[in-house]
Amino acid sequence: MMLLWLLAGCREEPKIPGIDLPDVSAQNVLVLNLDTTRRDRLPFDDYTRQTLPLTGERPFSVIDGVWSGAGWTVPATSTQLSGRPVHLHHVRDDDLENGEGDLEGTLLTTHVQDLGWQAHFFGGNPYFERVAAFAESAPVTYIPDAGETSNARALAEATLTWIDSVPEDQPFLAWVQPMDAHGPWDPHPEDFGTWADVDAVPFDIQAETRDQEAAMEAELEGASADEVRQAVSDVYDEQLLDLDRALDALLTELEARGRLDHTLVVLTSDHGEQLFDSDPLGYGHLEWLTPAVTNVTLALMHPDLPEAVWPCLTSSADLAPTLLDLLDLPELPGAEGASIRQACRQVATSEFWLRTTLHRVSAVSTDGRIEADCKTGEITGFNLKTDPFNRQPLSEADTPDAALLRDGLVALRDSIEDETQERCRLDTSW
Ligand SMILES: [Zn+2]
Repeated sequence: MMLLWLLAGCREEPKIPGIDLPDVSAQNVLVLNLDTTRRDRLPFDDYTRQTLPLTGERPFSVIDGVWSGAGWTVPATSTQLSGRPVHLHHVRDDDLENGEGDLEGTLLTTHVQDLGWQAHFFGGNPYFERVAAFAESAPVTYIPDAGETSNARALAEATLTWIDSVPEDQPFLAWVQPMDAHGPWDPHPEDFGTWADVDAVPFDIQAETRDQEAAMEAELEGASADEVRQAVSDVYDEQLLDLDRALDALLTELEARGRLDHTLVVLTSDHGEQLFDSDPLGYGHLEWLTPAVTNVTLALMHPDLPEAVWPCLTSSADLAPTLLDLLDLPELPGAEGASIRQACRQVATSEFWLRTTLHRVSAVSTDGRIEADCKTGEITGFNLKTDPFNRQPLSEADTPDAALLRDGLVALRDSIEDETQERCRLDTSW
């Protein structure tokens, strides 16, 4: 604790004012953590397709500028729940069969139970049972994603049943993480063909393996590469429609029970999905720190909150501290993140680890992003305003906020070395 206090004392004063969100008088929190949803494909970002025609119509306060601490579920969700970046919570391994995953920090679910709440995970992802820290923190209802059957609907029904069992004067936190938007994709038959051209391209790709190159080669017979890429991207959007119906049904049922007005609804995502945005063979998310994968939605709904969009650069490590601040609850022990009511960030960072090896780190500002390969030290810069999908690597001279971003990566590198002795080479002359 002393070390944490010292580190906290060394942090610079925040330079960017936070968001003037009002206090929220909610008794309960419902987190809808939509696994693998990209910020730019949701209606809150003015996406031209109505991917959430029902849920998106509700009066959300949308925070514009949220960056996930990692590109895949386990480390990213651990950051959301603990308020700590990956190198501080240490849950980064993909080898969970070996009982890896002891998290350092306090999870939001544990914290609110210590305050007398009930908490429960509803996940379509086996990690909720496998990661020791999650399973020990709160009861888990795991319902696997089963293709055409909406995972969100099954989880929503389980969530409603559980909420019905919670006395009305008993505060609760329900953390619901549906996997519908995560590949393999199987849109509901009702939605198939809404945007994807079913005649032009074979569609087995959404049920294919993670072997992207093999999948692409198989699908390329009879269709151009661009047609296949567009079709995969269209199928992803179609998948969101059934997710939307399930979310809307859950919110409508809570409304009918008179419980929605007492509940802070949090619509967010652990990470997004690469749909060939910066790599012609790339779909998936694990190893990417690009905007398609790490820029996520955060939308809050409660009668005390206005329907509005709030620009604020922030990290998913700030999620739990923000929720506790809104509800005027004690701070989360060990959290490195801070409430967005206190400050927005100048720089947000993300990390890509495999097992215990750090491969890449990324830093973003409101205008630019840089990413470093930890083995070679090579740094690449991008302009987020003119090149939102980071297709065009830039020199330091052409990268907006280059000096600020480099300082952010150096601070992250030093912090990682202090914590884990893991080195990340950085070309600091960049
Ligand atoms: Zn995920």
